[in-house]
Amino acid sequence: MNAPLHPSAEFLRALHAIVGAEHVLVDPTDQAPYLIDWRGRYRGTACAVALPADTAEVAAVVKLCAERRIPIVPQGGNTGLVGGSVPDESGAALVLSLKRMHRVRALDLDNDTITVESGCLLASVQEAAREAQRLFPLSLAAEGSCTVGGNLSTNAGGTAVLRYGNMRELVLGLEVVLPDGRVWDGLRGLRKDNTGYDLKQLFIGAEGTLGVVTAAVLKLFPAPTASATAFAAVRDPDAAVALLRLMRARCAEHLTTFELLSQPALDLVVTHMAGSQVPLTQSYPWYVLVELTGPGVDEALQAELVETLEAAAEAGLVPDAALAESVAQRNALWALRENMSEAQRLEGAGIKHDISIPVSSIPRFLERAGAQLVEAFPQVRIVAFGHLGDGNLHYNLVQPRGRSKEAFLAEADRANLIVHDEVARLRGSISAEHGLGQLKRDEIVRYKSAVELELMRAVKRALDPAGLMNPGKVL
Ligand SMILES: Cc1cc2nc3c(=O)[nH]c(=O)nc-3n(C[C@H](O)[C@H](O)[C@H](O)COP(=O)(O)OP(=O)(O)OC[C@H]3O[C@@H](n4cnc5c(N)ncnc54)[C@H](O)[C@@H]3O)c2cc1C
Repeated sequence: MNAPLHPSAEFLRALHAIVGAEHVLVDPTDQAPYLIDWRGRYRGTACAVALPADTAEVAAVVKLCAERRIPIVPQGGNTGLVGGSVPDESGAALVLSLKRMHRVRALDLDNDTITVESGCLLASVQEAAREAQRLFPLSLAAEGSCTVGGNLSTNAGGTAVLRYGNMRELVLGLEVVLPDGRVWDGLRGLRKDNTGYDLKQLFIGAEGTLGVVTAAVLKLFPAPTASATAFAAVRDPDAAVALLRLMRARCAEHLTTFELLSQPALDLVVTHMAGSQVPLTQSYPWYVLVELTGPGVDEALQAELVETLEAAAEAGLVPDAALAESVAQRNALWALRENMSEAQRLEGAGIKHDISIPVSSIPRFLERAGAQLVEAFPQVRIVAFGHLGDGNLHYNLVQPRGRSKEAFLAEADRANLIVHDEVARLRGSISAEHGLGQLKRDEIVRYKSAVELELMRAVKRALDPAGLMNPGKVL
């Protein structure tokens, strides 16, 4: 690893003058948590970490860096899974943490919007919405640590995308500090605005490569008062897709969650997570976790869910199912899903794929990718689960028993090629939720057309001609 560059005394003085000396970190111990990613896979160095307090300070820091040609790595909660939020090893970059910018600027209940700064924790936005008897529906396991800026910049998804869409669909306006330090105030709370290019969309999912998001106007929804949750075995993935179709038709907008879980994935949770229990007496190769939410009382939604599952059973799709009859039972069902990543981690090394495919093609994908992997790696252990309702699978390979971590991970490139080529054949995406960051930056070149890549590069050049915003990520 390269030794960090020492920022010039004059640069540090200028940074101190903008954000205050106590908000500029140069000590290696103070910087450490900002320089390593959540999974501990990427570690970098920085000339300094700056923590501005408001948009004017962000703009002044970005302008200072632009004048001195210092690269900037924007960072929120640092929970990203593709190495996008940590600097490279050159020590040249400034990490710009938005952590101190966590104010709710406005709540407009007639317009059903909340305006927040980008350093707001996702959980704090959910809480502010709840206090106003509204719902902000983005929900993911890192919600206590991740920020709105990171959610926007990775276009985060999670477990309620089926009903409410991902982050892109939850945003009405943005405020962004551009790479030269100018501020674009696009904080409009409009649901209709056809005045040319929709510029905010460029910054959503850009992983900090086009500017620093400083605030956003987010959509609020009526807070549901009732829910019903069930865990159901399905005959096979085709039956899971047919059940989704049936539930959409019968439950319409009440259907909020439709998660697919494979038996090997559940086995790991039961093995590693104390107290986990599958609520069915017999085991099956595939299951779904489904949830309805809406107005009214739980009993009405539970009746709707039971009737739908009975119809699915009659159609031969669902051999067995269990309904959560209490909050504790609901939480236990959700824990089976939410503990999957942790259980896999405890089992051994993983080769992970965050992919999306049209829902109708998921059974074909599972069959074809599975067959090719078994042929290439006879000992392979496939652990598949994910948000079937929106076509997003976490299709992971777990270290085979008796095989070393190193030998297993040495096969990652070959396994990725098999999985991602099959995804591409079905016109899917090799990154459904997590972004490209450093992890998939090189690989994406194989899967995007020359035209698409050139358009992306043209956008980057237009907004960040000096290439100072989060270099080495995405493109
Ligand atoms: C346990 C766990 C579960 C997760 N589950 C899900 C899930 O279900 N669905 C899902 O989609 N993702 C999931 N993720 C990954 C997800 O991307 C992040 O949790 C979250 O969206 C990132 O927010 P953050 O504030 O931590 O961003 P960071 O990790 O700090 O940054 C992520 C990227 O955004 C950029 N960035 C951050 N803030 C700004 C800003 N203000 N302006 C410009 N660029 C910025 C960074 O440079 C980086 O490229 C999970 C992660 C973990 C650890």
